[in-house]
Amino acid sequence: MHIHNTLSQQPLCLICHKPIRKEPSLFTLVYDSPICASCLAQFEPLHYVGSFHDVKLTILYRYNAFFQTLLFRYKGQYDYELRNAFIVSDQRFLSDYYRSHVIVVAPSDDIANKKRGFIPTAGIASSFSSNIFTGLYKKSPFKQAEQSFEGRQKIKDVIDIKNGEVLRKKKVLLFDDVITSGSTLEKCLDLVCHYHPASIEIVILATRSYHLEKNI
Ligand SMILES: [Zn+2]
Repeated sequence: MHIHNTLSQQPLCLICHKPIRKEPSLFTLVYDSPICASCLAQFEPLHYVGSFHDVKLTILYRYNAFFQTLLFRYKGQYDYELRNAFIVSDQRFLSDYYRSHVIVVAPSDDIANKKRGFIPTAGIASSFSSNIFTGLYKKSPFKQAEQSFEGRQKIKDVIDIKNGEVLRKKKVLLFDDVITSGSTLEKCLDLVCHYHPASIEIVILATRSYHLEKNI
């Protein structure tokens, strides 16, 4: 999980690459963080818990400039090491709470994934689970940011599922990085529910919606 400075063997922060100083705080005592305290402080925790189509929805952070840059380095510049930098303070909670769940990751474009050599959401999910389902996929290249509202509705026609049968009667966590229009999430939920999982919850890393109330 750590990258090391070869001279000192001191762990380096995955984000800023500076040595992680071991300050005697409760946080560093209980968790061997892969990022430094000053990078950690730039995340804006939201911990929103609400519902989406009657399914429990948890959103961890606000989509601030720091998060946007970090996500671009990971997804756009293929910095795979950063997969472990997104879920740090919630790592223990997520790995415990979703221990017996199948983590169903939202799909990203197959062509982009081939260039990257990894599936972004699956990489981040691997920081808290080893039971990851990657059967949701996009049938054609589709960039949500380039689409009009009507175009975004069409995303429902390009997302599909394979090997969904393995989700039957399983506890499922649907996981995505950013929630935008909600149409991707809605389609993923439809496809997964078709296989009647025992239960389903949603965890999203970050939202641009700043009106959400912090309620836990
Ligand atoms: Zn740092």
